[in-house]
Amino acid sequence: MRLPHTIVVDPGHGGVDPGNPGLHFPRGLTEKDITLGIGRLLRAELLRRGLTVVLTRSTDTLIDLADRPLFCRAECDLFVSIHVNAMPAGRRQSRVNGVETYFVSDAKTEDQKRVAQMENDALRFENTATVQGPLAFILHDLQLNEYLRESARLADLVQARVAGIHPGENRGVQQGPFLVLAAARRPAILVEAGFATNPDDGAFLASAQGQHKIASAVAEGIVAYLLEFERKLAVGTGSGAR
Ligand SMILES: [Zn+2]
Repeated sequence: MRLPHTIVVDPGHGGVDPGNPGLHFPRGLTEKDITLGIGRLLRAELLRRGLTVVLTRSTDTLIDLADRPLFCRAECDLFVSIHVNAMPAGRRQSRVNGVETYFVSDAKTEDQKRVAQMENDALRFENTATVQGPLAFILHDLQLNEYLRESARLADLVQARVAGIHPGENRGVQQGPFLVLAAARRPAILVEAGFATNPDDGAFLASAQGQHKIASAVAEGIVAYLLEFERKLAVGTGSGAR
């Protein structure tokens, strides 16, 4: 089956921004390598399912946070950003594990604040002038975001699929003020595919098999969302009536 949809896949970080240093990744790999590996595989999985895919980066290069959503304009139905989580040093650092999927909204918990802050921190590698009050901008933008409910549903379906194949915990759907999601103007999610600070998650994320499983599960979640969306559309226009 062909699905007439374009998905923008955004492998987090790149170039001078390594993302999180990957305490438990082998061979000096960092977050930016893992996100690129999963992003490329996700592209292949979505193409195989008849979708059109645009990658925000296909090489080790830095794209400014504010520029990434620009890939999601006319020719874009969904925006999916791929990242790897990390716990700060401390007692819980190596224990915490698992996958969580974010959509953009105000953060409700300390963990959500930490993850949004960590991902928004990529700003400091950028050459462009400092962003004025990014949080104020996001909160204003959120009120204009008509895609919140759709983003939450997409996050649900993707999280369920990825949690099904992940060795770590199902940490559920979360929300946070992510710059990279705020400006997408389409349903947009960010998958934190596991913790580089946990030995088991780290090994899974760095392995070819782990990356394949994650990419395939994210693709399954996206297709499930699109099929549900099309059914709703068909009912809405009456063309699905029997
Ligand atoms: Zn990241």
